[in-house]
Amino acid sequence: MLQQIGAQTYAWVQPDGTWWLNNAGVVAGEDAVLVIDTCATAARTRRFLDAIAGLGPVRYAVNTHQHGDHTYGNSLLPATTVIIGHERMREGLRTDPVIDGCPPFWTPVPDWGPVARRLPDVTVAGGLTLHAGGRRVELRHPGGPAHTTGDLIAWLPDDGVLFAGDLVFAGLTPLVFMGSVPGALAALDWIAAFAPSVLVPGHGPVLHGAADITRVLDDHRRYYELVRSIGRAGLARGVSPLEAARGADLGPFASWPDAERIVLNLHRVYADESDHDFDLAGALTDAITWLGGPMHTAVNE
Ligand SMILES: [Zn+2]
Repeated sequence: MLQQIGAQTYAWVQPDGTWWLNNAGVVAGEDAVLVIDTCATAARTRRFLDAIAGLGPVRYAVNTHQHGDHTYGNSLLPATTVIIGHERMREGLRTDPVIDGCPPFWTPVPDWGPVARRLPDVTVAGGLTLHAGGRRVELRHPGGPAHTTGDLIAWLPDDGVLFAGDLVFAGLTPLVFMGSVPGALAALDWIAAFAPSVLVPGHGPVLHGAADITRVLDDHRRYYELVRSIGRAGLARGVSPLEAARGADLGPFASWPDAERIVLNLHRVYADESDHDFDLAGALTDAITWLGGPMHTAVNE
């Protein structure tokens, strides 16, 4: 669903925002369109690109981070589109095994369709300012690991619009297992300092106005503090991340979609605060054990 959020600025919102259903963005300028992220599957990316076909040629694309829901559709962009991403995002996608076939951690198993690994042409370390058809778009890295190690936001100072990527999940359980809990907390303050009037999260509905944005950022703070305290209590008791999650009271977050991410996020706390090695496949296996079966996704629809 294409939503206009500013003059020639749009969000592509895919309800309900759960696993693999991301948001993307569009900034249209004079004879140049910038897209912010693509989608997980070829079919979903085609739907997005068809919806914006009338806005002009897609000259630039930005990937907010390496995850497949934001990047696998890169290969459906025109061959002439210049793709931009953080240098660690590029490395993450280059070595991502999931694009070659998704393991059955989700049900139904995602089918990406005819996508191919297409990496950024331009990499960014700290930041870059694009002038896309006369539109000023500031790409900025939060300064350290947060959702992943290679996150970028896109800030439109003239519109007050901020595309946050997966630094923000609106009304859905946040995910930091490939990033950092303290880094994700710091990124919330960093985002708030831009004082956006519109914030496009990586998943979930667009946030309009300071009150809406502050409420959602505060939800993230409470969630990350809860994850950290459950993780520290589990480490103190000498139990596994899965056992720590099983014994935990998630309070209001228990009913949030994708609640099983508690297990993934605890694996990150354990890796960062003890000598536990971070094991991606082990973390995902524990999440489906906690849930009692594979995680749900509607990405094939
Ligand atoms: Zn992500």
